[in-house]
Amino acid sequence: MTVEREYWKKAQEGFSVENYPDVNDDEVEFPEKGYITYAVCSRECGNAEFIVDGSTQICDRCGRTMFRTAVAEYRFVRHIPAEELLNPS
Ligand SMILES: [Zn+2]
Repeated sequence: MTVEREYWKKAQEGFSVENYPDVNDDEVEFPEKGYITYAVCSRECGNAEFIVDGSTQICDRCGRTMFRTAVAEYRFVRHIPAEELLNPS
């Protein structure tokens, strides 16, 4: 099996849910700002997507490395649950 085929086989398999660590959503600290990049794949593939700068550039469609183009800075805001929006204190 080629390396590429082995990669996609593993990517599709994932792990069973008990193999992932428990994460308390309230303890996750997000950065206040970050960079989002518009990445494009080859003309042959045609895929394009926004990726968080610093994360993988591997194309979800063909498995090759995507090319980064424009970059924009984003500021993150905390997710506000719907009940807080409807009933502000
Ligand atoms: Zn691709």
